[in-house]
Amino acid sequence: MKDGFMILVLILVMITPMFPFLLKSKCPNCKKRKLEHLDTEQRGDGRKRTYITNYHCHACGEDFEQNKSGPLVPIKKQALVAEEQASTKTESPALAKTV
Ligand SMILES: [Zn+2]
Repeated sequence: MKDGFMILVLILVMITPMFPFLLKSKCPNCKKRKLEHLDTEQRGDGRKRTYITNYHCHACGEDFEQNKSGPLVPIKKQALVAEEQASTKTESPALAKTV
């Protein structure tokens, strides 16, 4: 009886530091608490400087990024938008003049 109680206390002591990891952020794609905080990176400079936090969902495998405390945005969609912007930039007449 006493041994059983001691084991219960030991389990509680071992689990307590893991609580922040158990309470993970909710994934906007599959609504499961499987989001893992990967890293925070600094983008841009001067007034446009911002901090992007990267997340990975272990349930659906989707990657997300968060601009400061803004909404979680899937990285795949962001990359497509960036590609579109890059292609329009290369086709701009201003750049054609310099070449
Ligand atoms: Zn997910």
